[in-house]
Amino acid sequence: MSNRTIDLNDALYRYLLDVSLREHPVLAELRAETHRHPLANMQIAPEQGQFMALLVKMLGARRTLEIGVFTGYSALAVALALPDDGRVIACDISREYTDVARACFDKAGVAHKIVLHIAPALQTLDDLIAQGQEGAFDFAFIDADKTGYDAYYERCLRLLRAGGVIAVDNVLWGGRVALPAMDEDTAAIQDFNRKLHQDQRIDLSMVPIGDGLTLARKR
Ligand code: SAM
Ligand code: CA
Repeated sequence: MSNRTIDLNDALYRYLLDVSLREHPVLAELRAETHRHPLANMQIAPEQGQFMALLVKMLGARRTLEIGVFTGYSALAVALALPDDGRVIACDISREYTDVARACFDKAGVAHKIVLHIAPALQTLDDLIAQGQEGAFDFAFIDADKTGYDAYYERCLRLLRAGGVIAVDNVLWGGRVALPAMDEDTAAIQDFNRKLHQDQRIDLSMVPIGDGLTLARKR
């Protein structure tokens, strides 16, 4: 027993999944399919998808943003948690990855809740701001190129209502954030984490789930 977060060894991680994971069959299929993809490790962990879905329900979210869709696991987990008139504005630059996602959204019966924008996310977010959508979103998930995090965060903060939550993925970056930065991505995440710690526009918690997920609630 200790007052710090427990380490999860393989047996304990399996136990956690055994006694708590409730995965929609299309999410399970998508996870198995993505497992064969050379970039499979880009997909979030299933318990993280379930955590984000719970958060979306707790927020009573209707309008959400996703920056970085890949084959669609996180977008699908969020869409399944939204009411029927809920919407995910989903940003990615890859048609190839998101074609897999589209097929799964259809199969799960939530395609009407997800609007995919195939363009650099910054452009999509700036367009939403230009269209007067500031304050119109309840939840955002940031999981695209790491050097873009700060710009995505600043846009998402404008697009969220007060009380809305931004979830930022990979903030522990496989442990590399705790070492001297050897590359641009690590340095970008380190700077981003330091910035959020001091940012008085938000309340925050860095949650050690998956590869680290920071929750930032707009004040
Ligand atoms: N959230 C996804 C999941 O749960 O499976 C994983 C997202 S993956 C880590 C990152 C994605 O960001 C890739 O699909 C990539 O094409 C996309 N991406 C990279 N640069 C981007 C940009 N400038 N704008 C939008 N998407 C971008
Ligand atoms: Ca990620």
